Formats: sequence, structure tokens, C-alpha cells
Amino acid sequence: MSELSHKGWIDKAAAIRFRDKAFIDGKFVAARSGRTFASINPATGESLAEVASCGEEDVDRAVASARRAFVSGSWSRSTPAHRKEVLLRLAQLLRENLQELALLESLDMGKLVADAATIDVPGSAGIFQWYAEAIDKLYDEVAPTGSGDLVLVRREPLGVVGAVVPWNFPLDMATWKCAPALAAGNSVVLKPAEQSPFSALRLAELAMEAGLPAGVLNVVPGLGETAGQALGRHMDVDCLAFTGSTAVGKMFLQYSGQSNMKQVWLETGGKSPNLVFADCGNLDAAADMAAFGIFFNQGEVCSANSRLLVQRSVKDAMVEKLAARAAATQPGDPLDPASKMGALVDARHAANVMRFVEAGKKTARLVTGGDQVTVNGRGSFVQPTIFDNVSPQDTIAREEIFGPVLSVIAFDDEDEALRIANDSVYGLAASLWTDSLSRAHRIAERLHAGTVSVNTVDALSPMTPFGGFKQSGFGRDLSLHALDKYTALKTTWIKY
Ligand code: NAP
Ligand code: MG
Repeated sequence: MSELSHKGWIDKAAAIRFRDKAFIDGKFVAARSGRTFASINPATGESLAEVASCGEEDVDRAVASARRAFVSGSWSRSTPAHRKEVLLRLAQLLRENLQELALLESLDMGKLVADAATIDVPGSAGIFQWYAEAIDKLYDEVAPTGSGDLVLVRREPLGVVGAVVPWNFPLDMATWKCAPALAAGNSVVLKPAEQSPFSALRLAELAMEAGLPAGVLNVVPGLGETAGQALGRHMDVDCLAFTGSTAVGKMFLQYSGQSNMKQVWLETGGKSPNLVFADCGNLDAAADMAAFGIFFNQGEVCSANSRLLVQRSVKDAMVEKLAARAAATQPGDPLDPASKMGALVDARHAANVMRFVEAGKKTARLVTGGDQVTVNGRGSFVQPTIFDNVSPQDTIAREEIFGPVLSVIAFDDEDEALRIANDSVYGLAASLWTDSLSRAHRIAERLHAGTVSVNTVDALSPMTPFGGFKQSGFGRDLSLHALDKYTALKTTWIKY
């Protein structure tokens, strides 16, 4: 499967083909303006391809195609059993093209190819499979009105769904939107992040191969202010599903209010706390998972456990264990299966992360890391970095850094832990470690977070809803609840 050697991945990368056009109405097409943007490999700084940069006219074309496909009914009114069959085939095609997709992901945004091959791509295939298998098992309702009336309450697809996604898990974030939206019968226009367009373009091509009719899934690569905004303001888009930063999420609410009042669903930023209580029976496991929770995917994870709150009596022991784990997680060539951490998505983002690191050096104690580095003399890499003695008011404890930077904060008791944990504009995820069942429930109940993981971090599956409280957004990805975003209830009242 993914068991290629370093040289195997390098050879495969040399032969890879990048889809560099927009995918509209079942065909790859250039942007009408002829404009392109460069997609850069952040591990080397080299340009991979010039990609079509879609403007308003291209988004118009894509939405028109999506609408035509929807109205034709070839997908929207096909049986759930048919949609299941096509989406199962797509899941299979994702698995058959696993190495190629994993490479596209790694080259495009810097993550470890081994992670993409074992986590991202299988995860995406699994989610298409999950919604495919679910969609012909959902029954609608008959309202209990009594005799004389028959009242059907049915779920209908909305129409054209716009999806705008970020670069940290390009294929997975596209899948989290597309799988439920398509399973429900909608057409989709997807805008990938400018840093990472390739896997989305390949996904659309594979979806056609699986039997999705032309126009049902369109991909418009381009800049956020251009293609993303055009989708957000489009008068014929029924729903906009967004994953990205809180600042841009707020713009989509404005776009909607200033255009056609389309539904907007937002999965945005986070500053997730991980609470370690002194009664945690396995501090080593807590340290392993705390390190994973902040260093996995270079810390470019919306639900990254970027604030580690530790009860004072075990804090120093915990920091020592974490420093050892950080030392073993140094950046390396993303194509080398032995590497432990990849490149940050681009030079600009690395510079942003370093600004936070420099701020941290002024207010807290740097335990380890703290430098930007190169691998083989190039690329945008940042060392796994840990700050101790962080105050809850420090910038590094409040702002989403979106890099491998951990802030350790000590607490004395439950109330203080909760106060610090909940003192954030975000509320995406939280973790806690304790051997006390009642403490686990007590704390979980009071944490402001869409997901609380107990004695693990960042637990998620296609079966469980994912999304935030507060400025981490609203609406849920994954699980059957995601279908709420992509369907509307229709009541049909029959008098007899
Ligand atoms: P971002 O800057 O908000 O971009 C996300 C998407 O929005 C991209 O496709 C971007 O296009 C587009 N965009 C940017 N400016 C826009 C505008 N003015 N109008 C319309 N669209 C616009 O976020 P990012 O830096 O790619 O990703 C990191 C963020 O995503 C973090 O805050 C992270 O927490 C969040 N995230 C959240 C979740 C979750 O489920 N809650 C999951 C993953 C990531 P361009 O690429 O061209 O800028
Ligand atoms: Mg790129």
C-alpha cells in the first residue's frame, strides 16, 4: 500500500502529473481570463505547476453547470441506491489511486507523505464509503396528524452547494463537505485553497470516472478574494459550507447577507485546551498524545491541542516528557518515510508562526525548539517548540498559531482549569486526562467545545459530529448530522 521507500516516493513524484485546470461541467478548462497562479512545494520552494486562477466568470460557469445538473435530476433525483453505488465506486477509486493522491497532498502542502498515505487518503475514502452506505438507509417521516390527512415530512437536497476549504487537509476537508452534500443529491462547486489545489482536482476527475454526471461536482481553483468571494456572493448558490479561519468565516456571513441569504455553515479556528490532572494514571500516554496533539501535521490542525493545562504537582514531569518527544519529532523531507514532521504550508505561514514564537520568547520560558530550519538546505520548516510558564493572557496562549508550538500553563484545581480552558473566543475541541470517571464527566460537561476527548486527544470518526462552539463556527461536519446542512425539510399535506 503505502510502503514505498524514500527513493520509491521520489521516483513516483518525478513522474506525477498535476491537473492544473479548473474542472467545470465534467471537463478541465483554463480560466476565462487565462490567469494562473503558481503552486509551490513548501519543502523545496519549487513551483509544481501554474494553476488556473478562476474569476467571477468561471465561478458563474461552474454554478450554471451545477444548477443544470441539479435541475436535470440525473443525480439529484436518482435513487439513493444509485448514489450509493457511485460513491462506493469513488471510495474504491480513491483507494486504488492512494499513492498518487498522497503524493499530490504532500508535494502541494508539505505534510508527510506517509501520513497522507495512511491517514488522509484512507480517511477520505472511508468517509465517501460511510455516506454512500448511509444514504439508502435513511427514512423520512409521516407526521402523527390522525386520520383524514396524510402528512409527509421529507428531506430534499438544497440545490447548489458551494464549498470553500483550507490547505491543511486538502482532500479530507473537501471530502467532509462533498461526501454528505453529494450523497444527499446536491450539486457542488468546490474551491480548494490556493496552496493546495491538486487533490481536489483529481477527486473531481475520479468522481466522474465513478459515474457522477458532468456538472455535479465542479472545482474552481483560485484566490480567496476572487473565486471564494464570487462563490460566497453568488445569487444561485443555495448553501456555502466553509472550513478555514474565523476572520474569513465572518466574511462569508456578510457575503450571504449582501446577496441571496444563502445558508452558511462555518468550521473555523481553534485554540483547544488539553487538561492533564494529577490523577492521570498514565502520564506517558498523556505525553505521547499531547505531543501528537500539537506536532501532528506540523500543528496545522484546527483542533490542535495547542494549550496544555497541567496540574501543578505533575507539571514539571510532564514538560520533561514532552521535551523528549519534541526532540524525537524533528522536521525532515516529507517524502522520507522516516521523517517525523513535514514543512509548513508556505514561507509566509512559516514567518507568521515564527512571529508568535518570537513573542513567546519574550513572555514565557522556551523549553525546546524555537527556530525555523531548512531540510537539505531549503524549504519552510519550524522546529517542534514548547513554551513553559505561559500565562493565560499571553498572545501565544490566546491566538491560533497553526504551527508546532505548544503553550504549557499550570493550574491548581478544577475550577481554575475550567476557567482557563474556557477563556477563549474559540470552542472547537478539548481533551482531558484523569483516572476519575466522575471528574471526567464533570469537566466534560463544563468545557465549551464541540468535542471533548477523555484520556486521548482529538478523537474523531465519520460516525461523530465535528464542529465548534463560539467563534469556532456552527454546523457539524461528519456523522448523519452533517446531512442537516445539505437538505431542507419539506412538508406535503394531503387531505382525503
Ligand atoms: P483561510 O485563510 O480562512 O482560507 C480558507 C479558504 O477561504 C481558502 O480556500 C481561502 O482561499 C478562502 N478565502 C480566503 N480569503 C477569502 C475571502 N476574502 N473570501 C472568500 N474566500 C476566502 O484559512 P487557511 O489559512 O487556509 O486555513 C487555516 C484555518 O482553517 C485555521 O484557522 C484553521 O483553524 C481553520 N480550519 C478549521 C477547521 C475546522 O474544521 N474547524 C479545519 C481545518 C482548518 P485562499 O487559499 O486563496 O486564501
Ligand atoms: Mg502548494
